[in-house]
Amino acid sequence: MRLELANAQMIGNELALRWSDDVEAYLGFEFLRRACPCAVCGGEPDVLGNLIRPEVTYTRDSFVLTGWQAVGGYALQLQWKDGHNSGLYSFDYLRRLNSAVAGETK
Ligand SMILES: [Zn+2]
Repeated sequence: MRLELANAQMIGNELALRWSDDVEAYLGFEFLRRACPCAVCGGEPDVLGNLIRPEVTYTRDSFVLTGWQAVGGYALQLQWKDGHNSGLYSFDYLRRLNSAVAGETK
């Protein structure tokens, strides 16, 4: 079954996602921004599997999510208050992030 995003909304400082298989995810804004997969932030490994994270400077606005856009039915493009919006968070990537934080939530 193809994974689809059933619902997305902001709750406090978290992005709450519900998937077509009824799995729910609550991802904190700061966590999401630090995991930004765009080239500038270097969030995902390159084709050789190397992860070289450049120095990224954040401000308070960097961790404020102002909105998002669904892209091609496979990703979310998140818009941050500091103007950054080049990160495409694929559904697969969001699911992996969710697994990374699983257990931390109550
Ligand atoms: Zn980025």
